Amino acid sequence: MIVKAFTRAALLLLAAMAMPMAHAAATAQIKTQAPGYYRIMIGTAEVTALYDGSSTFPLTLFKNATPETLDRYVEEINGNAPKVVNGSVNSFLINTGEHLILIDSGGGKLLGPGFGQVMANLKAAGYSPEQVDTILLTHMHGDHIGGLVTADGRPAYPNATIWTSKAEADYWLSAANAAKAPKAQQAGFQRARDILTPFKDGGKLKFFTAGKDLLPGVQPIALPGHTPGHTGFVLEQGGQRILFWGDIVHYSALQLPHPELAVGFDADGVQAVKTRDALLKLMAHQQTLIAGAHITFPGIGYVSADERQGYRWTPVGYGEVR
Ligand SMILES: [Zn+2]
Repeated sequence: MIVKAFTRAALLLLAAMAMPMAHAAATAQIKTQAPGYYRIMIGTAEVTALYDGSSTFPLTLFKNATPETLDRYVEEINGNAPKVVNGSVNSFLINTGEHLILIDSGGGKLLGPGFGQVMANLKAAGYSPEQVDTILLTHMHGDHIGGLVTADGRPAYPNATIWTSKAEADYWLSAANAAKAPKAQQAGFQRARDILTPFKDGGKLKFFTAGKDLLPGVQPIALPGHTPGHTGFVLEQGGQRILFWGDIVHYSALQLPHPELAVGFDADGVQAVKTRDALLKLMAHQQTLIAGAHITFPGIGYVSADERQGYRWTPVGYGEVR
C-alpha cells in the first residue's frame, strides 16, 4: 500500500530535491561487481562460496500450479515486479586442511554470457585450480559440470578426481538412455557425455556410496528426483555442520513457501517434490546450515518453518570469516 501511494509526482519531487546545486565534473562509472566469493568456517574447515553467474527465468519453469496461481504467488512476493524470477549458480570450495574440494563447477562456456565465473572467483579467493584435488558433483546438469573443462576442452582442474553417484553416471553417460530421451533433452545427454567421458576413460571419474563418508567429515546423501542420482553433501567438522543440497530449491522465494512446485528441469518431478518436502522438514527441525546451488549468492543460510505457509530462508550476513 505504501509503495503504491508513492506516486510518480512524489518521485519527481524527490528527484528535484536531490539535484546538485552545481554540475560536478563527470566521473566514469565502474560497472564491475565485487569478486564473487564468500567465506565461512564450519568448525576447522573453510568453506568458500563461488559465484558462477545469474539470470532470470520465466514463471513457466514451475510446474504443479496454474499460471494464475503462479502470478499470484509472485505478486505476493514482489508486488508489481516483472513476472520473472532471478536464479544464481553457485559452486562451493571446501578446504579441510588436507583436501581442497570443489562442489560443482558452474556452467563454464555452456550457459552463455555472464556465466562461467567460478574459475575467476576461485582465483580471486586465493586458490589455484591445480590445488583442487577432489570435485564432488551433485548431478550432471550443464550448470554443474560445464566448468570442469576449459574453453578448449582440457581439464580445468588438472589434479582433481571427480566423484559422482553411480546412478547419475549410469543415467547421463548411457548412449541408450540418450536415444530414449525426448528431443529437448538430448543436448543435455550429449553435453554430459562429451565432458565426462574423457575423465571416465582416464580413470578420473569415480563413484561414491551415499550414506558413507567419502573423506573424513564429508558424506554424500542421496536426494533423488531432480535427477536420478542427485546428491547432497554433508560437511561435519568440529561439531558444526553444513549441507550442500545442490538443486533441492531453484528459487527460494517461491519453492520454500510452496515446496510442491516442481521445475521443468526435474527428471522425476513427483520424486523431486517428495525429496524436497522431507528434506525441508528435517533441515528446519535440525537448524542445519544450507548451501544451495541456486539460492541467491552466496546461497548459504537456514530454512525454518513459516507460520503462514511452508518454509522461509534466512541468509547468512556479510562479515568477518568465522
Ligand atoms: Zn542446477
